[in-house]
Amino acid sequence: MTAVPPGATLGIIGGGQLGRMTALAARRMGYHIHVLDPDPHCAARFVVERCVTAPFEDEEGALDLARSCDVVTLEIEKVAVPALRAAESQAPVRPSPGILAIVQDRAVQKAWLASRGFPVGPYRVVTSAEELAAASDAMPGRLYVKAARGGYDGRGQVVIDGRCDAPKAFADIGAPQCVAERGLDIEAEISVLVARRPGGQAVVYPPALNHHERQVLAWSVLPGPVPGEVARRAGELGRAIAEAFPVVGLLVVEVFWLRDGTLLVNELAPRPHNTFHPTEVGCATSQFEQLVRAVCDLPLGSTDVLRPAAIHNLFGDLWLGDRPPPFADALEVPGVGLHLYGKRVPRPGRKMGHLSAVAATPEAAVATVLEARRRLVP
Ligand code: ADP
Ligand code: MG
Repeated sequence: MTAVPPGATLGIIGGGQLGRMTALAARRMGYHIHVLDPDPHCAARFVVERCVTAPFEDEEGALDLARSCDVVTLEIEKVAVPALRAAESQAPVRPSPGILAIVQDRAVQKAWLASRGFPVGPYRVVTSAEELAAASDAMPGRLYVKAARGGYDGRGQVVIDGRCDAPKAFADIGAPQCVAERGLDIEAEISVLVARRPGGQAVVYPPALNHHERQVLAWSVLPGPVPGEVARRAGELGRAIAEAFPVVGLLVVEVFWLRDGTLLVNELAPRPHNTFHPTEVGCATSQFEQLVRAVCDLPLGSTDVLRPAAIHNLFGDLWLGDRPPPFADALEVPGVGLHLYGKRVPRPGRKMGHLSAVAATPEAAVATVLEARRRLVP
């Protein structure tokens, strides 16, 4: 028996916004929620019943969490695999530690994808400035250099153009191992979300279309207005990758749709994802509820988009003026919603919340959320 019925206790490793929104969905369904996070003031703090304060490397902390839980899931990749294995001795960990071991290292992840025939762009693993310079010679033009471990939201990443930039770039990143990727000629960035139960039942959401600014997600819309044939290929790619692991829980595949029509896998996330926040207001089943259903082995919910929906991220920069952001002005826009994560300290670049908008079409949802976001700028 792998089912974990409502009334049981769900453990979440990571108490950031993704853990918090998962906890809210799980609470609605009648679960008890315990969270592990290094920060005693983490975003999930006030919506869960118990917080274990421990580093993500701490096996004792993971054991402590898992002992009081019926199943454990996670909202972040950078959890030490031995800690996940320790948790696994007490309760099922979904997705499994083996998947995290692959996904949390870009070099391992890319090799795993390539060896299974999944499409990735040209790249090289580099461990010195000299190797990076050589990679730049081999792949002329723009190069995206990314720390193999630990980067997120564009952090741990530098874009270079030519071998002269290599020494500074390698030093700036400051990681022992990096992945150097050829800069791709992208038509659009899309992402696919697959949810999969222990027995293999899987569902796929329509792809989201994502807009990044300076390598960080600014806004996202669902369903992404892309040709049906692109959506179908992306969905099949996501389903095949989820099956190849196989994942229990969620898997998001970030996909580059190139100008020549090719779809390449950018990166994988076996957890809820910023680009599927529109599911909360637009879909029959939010990504957070779907995660709970998948890891608790309940029937998966419909992935239908009931109303096109868009989100716009709100970063800490908005809080740094004299007055708090004028949320009332944004909320005047019909169809707009406000989602704040309860983070106490705003910092530039820190995700503090997002705006959502629903509308008759994806294009109108984007226009509406952009209008609401514009109203927050003094
Ligand atoms: P993160 O973990 O920070 O999300 P990503 O690898 O997804 O890191 O890169 C962040 C963003 O940078 C991507 O969404 C894309 O906009 C841009 N980017 C990354 N790699 C490439 C590439 N090889 N070619 C073009 N753009 C890229
Ligand atoms: Mg990314």
